[in-house]
Amino acid sequence: MYDVAIIGSGPAGLTAAIYATRSDMKTVVIEGLTPGGQLMITSEVENFPGFPEGIEGPELMGRMRKQATKFGVEYLPGDLSDIDASGPPFKLTAGKNTVEAKSVIIATGSSARWLGMESETKLRGKGVSACATCDGFFFTGKEIAVVGGGDSALEEATFLTKFASKVSLIHRRDELRGTAAMQKKAKENKKVAIVWNSVIDEILGVEEDRLTGLRLKNVKTDELSVLPVEGLFIAIGHTPATKVFEGKIDLDKKGYIVVTDNTRTSVPGIFMAGDVGDPRYKQAISAAGLGCMAAIDALRFIDEE
Ligand code: NAP
Repeated sequence: MYDVAIIGSGPAGLTAAIYATRSDMKTVVIEGLTPGGQLMITSEVENFPGFPEGIEGPELMGRMRKQATKFGVEYLPGDLSDIDASGPPFKLTAGKNTVEAKSVIIATGSSARWLGMESETKLRGKGVSACATCDGFFFTGKEIAVVGGGDSALEEATFLTKFASKVSLIHRRDELRGTAAMQKKAKENKKVAIVWNSVIDEILGVEEDRLTGLRLKNVKTDELSVLPVEGLFIAIGHTPATKVFEGKIDLDKKGYIVVTDNTRTSVPGIFMAGDVGDPRYKQAISAAGLGCMAAIDALRFIDEE
């Protein structure tokens, strides 16, 4: 019987693990299919306090894991496939393993959203990607595009200029959503060209089995045009990873966990931390902060029980 089972091993989950184990709670982390979470596919992180020179996402997660491991956290590989939320105690299954815990912290984060076009699915891995750090290298010297207008799109567009000869940033409005600092960086980069008021009408190249271009539609004039590119990076936001909790824990209409009080969910004894219940801030540091809060709340819950 664990005191706390933490689902997810990004900054929220691992910070919760550090705080829980340091408070002498017997702690297990169900790591998920991508241990370390989204930071494992992030390049340089410039805004995590304590790293004035910046730090690569995977290195930051490696350090957090080392710190959690030092205090005695146990890890279970794989994704959570089922949870019996009728406790406490709660029963959690991941692969062939089932564990019981007096409290649970959900820190499953979110995953990249796709446009939802058939051509996008067919050309995934053949020019279409949602991970600049994973696939950017394949586009050395080529012309590519990024779709989206938030920080992810701006960060990816800027990062991809390390490889690509030109990056067209396609945005559906005439104003970017991303922060001023990120906008400045992208706009000052000579290799980045912003295509305003435009959406992708079709991704071209299905017959050739490789991306050959994009048919764009100007949403103001309805005018169609073709942008010849060999790569397309989708950066249009994220969806919370909460499918397994449907019908068991209250979710809002976008699938985020409904937070009743700080980190409390609708089920007493089950807490949340990070992007999975935070549609607003979604930063590594705010996820880590919520991880700390959730561990303290779980400890108090066990004490009160
Ligand atoms: P986001 O802020 O939700 O932005 C998503 C962007 O994609 C928006 O510009 C949106 O357009 C556009 N979009 C959404 N659906 C679309 C569709 N179907 N077709 C075309 N465009 C579409 O998501 P994000 O950029 O992933 O950022 C999420 C959070 O993480 C933010 O809080 C951000 O600050 C943070 N973040 C921080 C960093 C950093 O600090 N280093 C890096 C990355 C992300 P509209 O603007 O028209 O809605």
